[in-house]
Amino acid sequence: MNVIAPQPITVAEPAFDLNAVREDFPILAETVHGKPLVYFDNAATSQKPRCVVDAISDFYLRYNANVHRGVHLLSQKATDAFEATRGVVRQFLNARSDKEIVYVRGATEGLNLVARTYGEKNIGAGDEIIVSAMEHHSNIVPWQMLCDAKGARLRVIPMSDEGVLDMEAYADMLNANTKLVSVVHVSNALGTVNPVKEIVQLAHEKDIPVMVDGAQSTPHITIDVQDLDCDFFVFSGHKVFAPTGIGALYVREEILKEMPPFHGGGDMILQVTFEKTTYNELPYRFEAGTPNIADVIGLREAILYIQQIGMDKIAAWEKALLDYATRKVEAIDGVRIIGTAPHKASVLSFVIDGVHPHDIGTFMDHDGVAIRAGHHCAQPVMDRLGVDATARASFAFYNTTEEIDRMATVIPRIVELFA
Ligand code: PMP
Repeated sequence: MNVIAPQPITVAEPAFDLNAVREDFPILAETVHGKPLVYFDNAATSQKPRCVVDAISDFYLRYNANVHRGVHLLSQKATDAFEATRGVVRQFLNARSDKEIVYVRGATEGLNLVARTYGEKNIGAGDEIIVSAMEHHSNIVPWQMLCDAKGARLRVIPMSDEGVLDMEAYADMLNANTKLVSVVHVSNALGTVNPVKEIVQLAHEKDIPVMVDGAQSTPHITIDVQDLDCDFFVFSGHKVFAPTGIGALYVREEILKEMPPFHGGGDMILQVTFEKTTYNELPYRFEAGTPNIADVIGLREAILYIQQIGMDKIAAWEKALLDYATRKVEAIDGVRIIGTAPHKASVLSFVIDGVHPHDIGTFMDHDGVAIRAGHHCAQPVMDRLGVDATARASFAFYNTTEEIDRMATVIPRIVELFA
């Protein structure tokens, strides 16, 4: 009998110096359980290059001071660095003005800010808010809370078994009661890249504003909020190689200037008397209290770092990694990939018949491979696809095909062990 040997999978080389990039991330040289770390949990949080950590320590060691209020030199230096990041974020998203960039703690806070300010003001009884079937809980719960408070209704764009949104159903859902659409750009559970530009176009034909949850797209895709034409866009710094506790919310200026403030306190005011407060100009009106200065400075460094590699080069290499991993994993008997949309970014979710994803994750961890197992804060996606949880490998540009090989050799052992 002739046995045909499996063809090796050819992968184009990255268009940047992968070894040099890996050296910028000291954590990638760590060992876990005595094995070299393979970090495939990038959708949960990304690793940080040395330059980001250095920028934060430089701030604390050399010019730590509060921003906006001090006349002394350190405060001016801190303020300059803090405000310089705003310009970097504006350009990263291609917003029109720095006034449209509000610092937030992350995507979750940005979504809550919009629900509590724009939503409180503009959404009432009988109104409808549309989200998609593949949202993270952060893009469900704030709207649900708003709907409960206002007597409004949350509607859900359905998706196929592959994880593709039903755009015809979406178009039919838009009506005179629809007051907001809020959709995820890239699904953290499935990796689907949603057609947000088309989603915005359809909503705008009926003058309905659109919010985009960019938590999972910003690390992988060049973002252009003017081209997408969305009204709100939010992302988390920690997914784009910056620290935790910082992110940014973009709001189109015409909308932001009409939005009531979020938190009250210092910095968001122009004048306060016991009778009346006048609020600060954009975007400071939405940034009450002493902000997360150090991590804003870290965010700037992270964005400059990935831009210097080039978002297009990053996207091309990550596509190669995802294709390679998909072909390797789908060839293993007993494994089923969850999320097979034609347009995906960096996420490979899978299940193994008869094995709980937590066991897959624990087993992989013993081999030094860090993946995620669970519902990925997207329980409705799991319910829709009839699984309790998945194992999820998610890639960043510093990952390699050799690391994917490491993961792919563990999976058949798990299948065999639990068979
Ligand atoms: N949306 C999506 C799609 C996400 O993946 C996440 C984080 N997993 C969030 C929102 C929330 O981000 P954060 O926890 O950083 O606020």
